[in-house]
Amino acid sequence: MIPSIPAKQFMTKTKLGEFACNPYVGCTHGCVYCYAKHFEKRFPLSSWGTYVYERKFPNTLIPKGTGRSSLMFSPMTDPYQPVEATTLATRKILESIVESQLQISILTKSDLVLRDLDLFLQMNSVEVGFSIGMDDPASTWFEPGASTPRSRVKALQKLHEQGIRTYVFFAPLLPGISDIDTLFDLVKDHVDYLMVDRLNIKDAIDQQALFQIACRLGPEVENLWQQVFLQHNDTWYQETLNHLKKRAEQSKIELRYSP
Ligand code: SF4
Repeated sequence: MIPSIPAKQFMTKTKLGEFACNPYVGCTHGCVYCYAKHFEKRFPLSSWGTYVYERKFPNTLIPKGTGRSSLMFSPMTDPYQPVEATTLATRKILESIVESQLQISILTKSDLVLRDLDLFLQMNSVEVGFSIGMDDPASTWFEPGASTPRSRVKALQKLHEQGIRTYVFFAPLLPGISDIDTLFDLVKDHVDYLMVDRLNIKDAIDQQALFQIACRLGPEVENLWQQVFLQHNDTWYQETLNHLKKRAEQSKIELRYSP
């Protein structure tokens, strides 16, 4: 049992006109670069990554008139928290909307999502995405509570093999740490499309910790981080994006990104 927080409705409309569902408050994946904490005002920022509450909804009735609207899991936390293995909070919501016409979109850093394959196979419209911005060793320092990137790739592969629409969000790309060729080669055969984003260092939960970890990786990484984030030199990101664009084009995979 984990503590719970009452919530009014399980689907809420976002500013973009789509719907979002956040089954949890907080996130124990504890990514050092996380900026979701800015959306959660009830708890001290310093405690982000250490707590998770289950949101208790009065029901999971789909509001009238939503038709084939998009429903995103979950912009403010990861829907597959480690505790999801026992609470089944996300699974119960998915069970209740399994026959709906909603276009369900899930983004996670957990291989636990594979557990719900039986539900995805029954849905009218669903896609599952994995955020993967770095490989295994770096991930243990920057996103200590999440599944390892390699286990995310295994789950991605299994979902894709079963005919589920899948994507990978290369995010956040970390200068000198994210090897785009390695990441691309790991996932290229298991995705319908790709997305990419840089590190939003301005809103990161702990900029100092981010820099400290990066500097421990050697002078080359340290110099690069100083160039990119202190001197605002965008060369590394531009070169990495251009290279990724080429690789995606060669492999005929759609790449979505903000210029
Ligand atoms: S998984 Fe997402 S919400 Fe959770 S700590 Fe990491 S970046 Fe933040």
